[in-house]
Amino acid sequence: MSEKRDAILIVDDERFNLTVLKDLLDPFYDIIVAKNGEQALKRSFANPPPELILLDIMMPEMDGYQVMQRLKNDAVTRDIPVIFITAMGDAANEEKGLSLGAVDYITKPFSPAVVLARVRTHLGLRHSLHNERLLNNQLVSLNEDLASKNSQLVELNKRLKDLASVDGLTGIPNRRRFDEFLLQEWKRALRDQTPLSLILMDIDFFKPFNDNYGHAEGDDCLKKVAQTLSAAVTRESDLLARYGGEEFVCVLPETDICGLNRVGNHLRDAIIARNIVHAHSKVAPHVTISMGGVAIIPDRTGSPENLIQSADKFLYKAKEQGRNRLIVE
Ligand SMILES: [Mg+2]
Repeated sequence: MSEKRDAILIVDDERFNLTVLKDLLDPFYDIIVAKNGEQALKRSFANPPPELILLDIMMPEMDGYQVMQRLKNDAVTRDIPVIFITAMGDAANEEKGLSLGAVDYITKPFSPAVVLARVRTHLGLRHSLHNERLLNNQLVSLNEDLASKNSQLVELNKRLKDLASVDGLTGIPNRRRFDEFLLQEWKRALRDQTPLSLILMDIDFFKPFNDNYGHAEGDDCLKKVAQTLSAAVTRESDLLARYGGEEFVCVLPETDICGLNRVGNHLRDAIIARNIVHAHSKVAPHVTISMGGVAIIPDRTGSPENLIQSADKFLYKAKEQGRNRLIVE
């Protein structure tokens, strides 16, 4: 594989100098020559421009400094490294050349080793600088890409989290979400010593409903009940969730027994009003729910599990006492 050779522009008004430098560098680089400032500029603006310029200072008409200024004034040529060629021991010229932006200087008569070493060094620097810029640009666009991917990820995560907390059949919060919510509200009520209410509820005679109407109708009934209950729980701070099977649960933060009774009866009435036909219920010709409710101010001896157990106990009592009712503690 042949590697592309770097192009070097050599500018000198003396043919002898041009020949010496060209012979020295020709085996390693593509050499372009210019005999005066005007040619030098013309060739510097070629496409592609040279990778490096060796520029004689002392030239008639346009000297090296003027050429240098023109190069530095144009964005196309500004970054091409320029090495000045100066007469031996001309410290003042060297200094001026460096201040104009030359990267280095070499002195006449030429030492082949020095010329080669400096040319190599500055081409190497130019290439690493170029690569660094390329990498930097890539990094910038990667970062932009990453930022946009990240916000997509945040959005996806949010949706995933929402999905993980929603019951697939009914679309209302699921058991997992309920557990999380209850624990959080338990802690808050314990800390603030505010009342916390919980209602556990169950569709009456749901097994005969399923047995007689089939599972598709059963699922439909669950969806309607979930919809009706969740529409009836209007306070932002409350949570209605599917507890499992035909059981639902409602958490009411900062709610005492009066509030609990009000919400419970409202839920029961809403289900009755929905009037889902149930010819196989023993309490009504439509779907009804039984409910067990507990209102407490949490203390350290209790737990969310105890709260659920108590509500379950009262739910059992509601079933025993004829269903379609709310029993509270
Ligand atoms: Mg000269």
